[in-house]
Amino acid sequence: MDEELYKENLLDHNKNPHNKRVIAGAHSEAEARNASCGDRGTLFISFDDNGRVSDAAFQGEGCAVSQAGLSMLTDKLRGMMNADLKLLSPGDMYTMLGVAISPSRVKCALLGYEALQKILKVHKVCKVHKVESGCGCAGL
Ligand SMILES: [Zn+2]
Repeated sequence: MDEELYKENLLDHNKNPHNKRVIAGAHSEAEARNASCGDRGTLFISFDDNGRVSDAAFQGEGCAVSQAGLSMLTDKLRGMMNADLKLLSPGDMYTMLGVAISPSRVKCALLGYEALQKILKVHKVCKVHKVESGCGCAGL
């Protein structure tokens, strides 16, 4: 895709976001805010018994870059193994967004990524298996 198509894709994700809803009783959730632009986003993730992401969704509001990034991230997370979540990098967000991100928009582009990092930090105890380690989920 060239830059123009990426831009259209981004605007489409902003206009028709994927997975924009609350997951009631999600195994993990975290909110990220970007004060400079007023963006905010809450990421919800649930896992199946094998530690695979069974559902990922978000709620949020803000600029197109931040909201499209959240929408794309939830698409990417679905089906991923818990242990692989920590391998995602800011570069993956830039790749998905596909448009040039100026320094002032970095926090917008990484809003969903920030929420994911919060989840990875706090999700130390497995809520699925009620144990602290050994089930794989705690490997987050
Ligand atoms: Zn923004």
